[in-house]
Amino acid sequence: MTEIQLNLINFPHREILSTILKDYSDDFEFTANGVFRRITPPQCSDCGFPMSYNGFNTYRKGYLGEASVGRYLCSACGKSVEEDRTFWNNLKTGFFNILTEICLRLRLNHVSYELIEDVMSLLYPRDKDTIRNMVQSAIEKLEVPPVNGTQFVNYDEQHPKAGRNQKYRLTLLDSLTRQVIADELFDSKDADTIEDFLTRNLDAHKPIFIVTDLYRGYSDIFKRVFGNNVTHQLCLLHLNKLIVNDFPRKTSIEQELVKYELLDIFYNGELEIEFLSCLIEEERAMKRKSGKEYKVWVREAMRLFREFIHSLELKRRREDKNLERRTYYDALNNFKELFSKIDSFEIAVRRRLMKIKELWPKLTAFYFVDNAPATNNALENYYSTSLKTHRKKQLVVPGIEEQIKLSALKRSGIFGRPSKTLLDAFLMFIPFLDRG
Ligand SMILES: [Zn+2]
Repeated sequence: MTEIQLNLINFPHREILSTILKDYSDDFEFTANGVFRRITPPQCSDCGFPMSYNGFNTYRKGYLGEASVGRYLCSACGKSVEEDRTFWNNLKTGFFNILTEICLRLRLNHVSYELIEDVMSLLYPRDKDTIRNMVQSAIEKLEVPPVNGTQFVNYDEQHPKAGRNQKYRLTLLDSLTRQVIADELFDSKDADTIEDFLTRNLDAHKPIFIVTDLYRGYSDIFKRVFGNNVTHQLCLLHLNKLIVNDFPRKTSIEQELVKYELLDIFYNGELEIEFLSCLIEEERAMKRKSGKEYKVWVREAMRLFREFIHSLELKRRREDKNLERRTYYDALNNFKELFSKIDSFEIAVRRRLMKIKELWPKLTAFYFVDNAPATNNALENYYSTSLKTHRKKQLVVPGIEEQIKLSALKRSGIFGRPSKTLLDAFLMFIPFLDRG
């Protein structure tokens, strides 16, 4: 233990000083004048002659304080050395690490560097460029912990623009832990890029259950990468979005009813269907009247329906419930019933039903695997918190990558409850505060 020569000033700080200097051996002292040095000057490393004290160097850090470390001089060869000041560097690191973490958390929540500079002026003034450097070098150093034993995976893409350049963000999420497995930015999303991305980030030798949207030929890529180990699930909520898009924005009650019958295949829409069914007869009667009269009527009817849907949503939210998913048996029955009257539907609906028939095994894969996800909801949520859609266009590449990494770090729990506050770190400087 370093010897601490107490004086009236540093007397109250004995405990802090011994904590700070605990890693040093008995050979050191902290003098009454606040100089950290060896009790006996060392031997000269060049000529072996015992050195002697030669004053000290003082290191200052703005707003925090200063530390003095001893200097030694060899009277034989003139060599001058300075005592090790790791303790001082550690103190500064401890303080600035917490400042950096504050900045990281602000960046994670999309706070601009301008505003962070503003906030820092209340804590420890730093200019914007310094803050940007702190954040970026911290992000580079932090490692996202690897996810173990991944079996259920969500895959999705985003296409953010960096200035004029189209970028492609490919993301893999562990469905169970909701941890990010990989989240990378590319200049292209051709099959080779996706294949390489999957090969690098997933274990192709383990069985894998992977959810994607309904676009493009993922299946071929998955077959190439995983062979027979892969079960491919198509996101049911994405299917529902496509169904909604099959209809015009302003529908008749009859069209709206067909829409809800399609949505009802996988998600319980009984109440909506019942509501719309009650209006069908009335709509037929209204359609026999003037076009204008019908228009007014259908506008009002749809307004009431939207109000009804909204009240159902509010009720689910109050009860903390999700849309009720159909059992496999019900889903199959609902689909069969619709398919049996396929000829009565408009062309877009007929195409959609044919598509559902073709994709049926991939839409229903989750029913046959315990705990398997049926949607990419987790990944959609992740995207919405990590890279706001309305910001996508303005981001430059480092900004996108910064957000991607920060969100991954957050998911992995790195920004949990801090072990030390800025005040804790600051209190360690008390023995060194500028006494001027
Ligand atoms: Zn010497």
